[in-house]
Formats: sequence, C-alpha cells, structure tokens
Amino acid sequence: MTRNTDLNDTLFDRAKQVIPGGVNSPVRAFKAVGGTPRFIKRAQGAYFWDANDQRFIDYIGSWGPMILGHGHPAVVAAVQQAVTEGFSFGAPTEREIELAEEILKQVPSMEMLRLVSSGTEAGMSAIRLARGATGRSKILKFEGCYHGHADALLVKAGSGLATFGNPTSAGVPPEVVQHTLVLEYNNVQQLEEAFALHGKDMACLMIEPIAGNMNFVRASVPFMQRCRELCSEYGALLVFDEVMTGFRVALGSAQSIYAQAIPGFKPDITVLGKVIGGGMPLAAFGGPRAIMEQMAPLGPVYQAGTLSGNPVATACGLATLREISKPGFFDALSSKTRSLVDGLKAAAAAEGVPFSADCQGGMFGFFLMPELPQNYATVMKTDNARFNALFHGLLDRGVYIAPALYEAGFVSAAHSEQDIADTVTIAREVFRTLSK
Ligand SMILES: *Cc1c(COP(=O)(O)O)cnc(C)c1O
Repeated sequence: MTRNTDLNDTLFDRAKQVIPGGVNSPVRAFKAVGGTPRFIKRAQGAYFWDANDQRFIDYIGSWGPMILGHGHPAVVAAVQQAVTEGFSFGAPTEREIELAEEILKQVPSMEMLRLVSSGTEAGMSAIRLARGATGRSKILKFEGCYHGHADALLVKAGSGLATFGNPTSAGVPPEVVQHTLVLEYNNVQQLEEAFALHGKDMACLMIEPIAGNMNFVRASVPFMQRCRELCSEYGALLVFDEVMTGFRVALGSAQSIYAQAIPGFKPDITVLGKVIGGGMPLAAFGGPRAIMEQMAPLGPVYQAGTLSGNPVATACGLATLREISKPGFFDALSSKTRSLVDGLKAAAAAEGVPFSADCQGGMFGFFLMPELPQNYATVMKTDNARFNALFHGLLDRGVYIAPALYEAGFVSAAHSEQDIADTVTIAREVFRTLSK
C-alpha cells in the first residue's frame, strides 16, 4: 500500500526552486528517511491533511506546541479577537503581563521572565544573561541536547575534557565555540571532572532535563542532583532548556518532576517555547528577580525584539495555557500517552521486534532497541534502515511521526482513545513487516 503523493511531489519540486532544500527548517525535508515531505493543507484536532488530501494522525503537533490539538475553539476565538485589535504595536500590552503571570504561577523557580519569538532566541539570550550575571565566559552543554541554532551552541565535543568544542555547522568560527564544553549526558564522572577543571570559570550548565532532541532520554535523578550541586558549589547557573518539555511533560514542566525526587530542587534560569505559544512564534526565558534584573533596560545585559510579546502570539499562548491549566488536563493527557506507549510496546513484542519506549505527560519516545538509551551515542546505534522502514510504513498507513530517529513524539488532548488504538493496530502491521 503506497499512497498517492503526486501533488506533494509537485509542491516539493516547486519549493526546491525557491527555498533551500524546499523547506524552512531542515528536518522537514525527510532527508534522514528519504521520500517526499508532505505539504500540509489544513489540520483539525489530532489530524492533518496533505496536498493529496490524505489524512494523517499527527504525532508531531508542530514539534510540540499543539498540545490541545489543531484548531481548538477557545484558542481560535482568542486569536481571532486579537487579530481584530491589531497585529503588532511595538509598545507594551496588558496581555503580555497576563501571559507572564500565567507562566510564573506554574513555574515558581521563575520570578520574572522576558518574552521573545523563538526558542533559539530565548536560549541564546539565557546564555548571554548567565554570562552577564556571573561575569564568566565558559558554558557547558551535553551531546544530543539541542538548544536552538545560536553560534555558541552548535558545537560537538572536543577531544577530551581539557579541550572545548568544535563547531557542528559551517559558518561558526572555532573562536565562537571555544568557551563551550560538551559532555556526555547522564555521565556523572565526566561532569565532576569537568567542574574540577573548569568550574570556577563556568557561567552556566545548560541542559534539556528530558532530552527531546535525541528522541526521549531522561536525565537520571542522581545526574541531575549532581548538576545542581556542582553549579551551586562553583557559582555557575543551572539553565533548564524546557522549550520542549515546558508545559508539555507536566503543568509545572520537567523541573516539577525533578523537584519531586530532589527536595528543594530548582534551576536558576528556565527557557520556554513551543507550548507557551500554542503554535505561534513565542518563547521566554526567566529566573529569580536578582538575575532577571540584569537585563536591559534595568541592567547591563542587552536583548531586544521588534515582535517580542506579539499581541496575537500572546493571545494564542494565553488561551492555550488556560486550557491546559484546567483540573485533570495532564492526568488525561498522560494516561493517553501512556496507553499509546504501552500499546506500541505490546505490538512490538507480539511481532518479535526489539523495542523500548518511555513517556511523560504528552511527550513520548521509542527506540528499536531492547533497553532505553541513556545518552546520544547509544541512541545513534539505532538501525537507520529499520527506523526508516518503520517511518514509511506508518506514513503510508496514515500515521505521521517525526521523520528522524532522534526526535520525540507528542500526543495532544485531541487524540481520542480510538486514534491511539488505530495507531497501535497500524504499528503492529508495520512491525510485522520489520520482523520478516
Ligand atoms: C525546539 C527547541 C529549541 C529551539 O526552539 P525554536 O523555536 O525552534 O528556535 C530549543 N531548545 C529545545 C529543547 C527545543 O526543543
């Protein structure tokens, strides 16, 4: 069974004439899995339709933001109202305060925040703030974590702990990443050695607490505890990149989950995006008052944005956050995601396909290997050809997952039990072809 994609093919050919690779963000191009990307015409609830009017159950949700599903009536109404009042003013609005208050209420480690337009911008600004607030230059990140495409963060590990990173993109001068140290995720020993060597020069440690850019890998509790202790001991700031996990894995974000396991746990700076914009360009970074007051116009750390706190984007984000703050929302979403993950595990087991999977709130990941990986190197041992066969098998049958094995998946409130059951049935069919 292969679905007709001729109109997608035509659009892709046209797109490639005017946009590099035909896409405005690389992973959309299906380069890892091969084939023609689907051009989406419209979406509603848990589904979207491509140029050939084929329907897909959507497990990307715009890479996370669409936690309510597509076209939620309360969000659409809020955006429509906002549009009639004006697109952008370049002057403050009450809605920015409302959105900030709503976010701070759920994530108490932040006392103040600043709104920006993308996760990249928020992450980049958080690093500048950490450097400005500490007066230090060095930053620490982990292999497999993505924090946006700012120069200093497009870096892979150097050779050994004493050497800093190498750029992963052309156009990033080595001098720009010379202060970025890259370590293995979940490796306590490396972390301790790195702090012993560089701790007193370290401005911040930046981490995805549940890494969603190497599929789905949790930072272990002991590892996270050491991150917090070492940052505190050496005066470095702990920066939580919750662009993906924020308001997605729990109402209080991933930090609320670590706070349950580690008494008093909180990061110093939090970076948010994706869900807080509900599908519009909106992101934020925030932390304690004393740190945030380092930002211009109060302090010496400069940062600005023409469209920051955009009135239409804030309306969309605010309406989204109000829906997901309703009692029982995350319990229902979590149990749906859990039933998807359990169903996929059972289907893989029934067909004899080595498989492991994990989830939290409305975010999940699965691996074509028997044990959950703990770091990037292990994730990358996945058999690419097998993953691609799985991806295309699902796609042909109307289930859309991320077109790369190092991406997480997302369930929305609009996915019904029937959608989940259908997905599991389809997945079992595809697993059967894999086990042959
Ligand atoms: C998506 C993402 C970013 C980048 O956000 P953009 O809005 O795409 O710039 C940064 N960090 C994490 C963890 C992300 O998942």
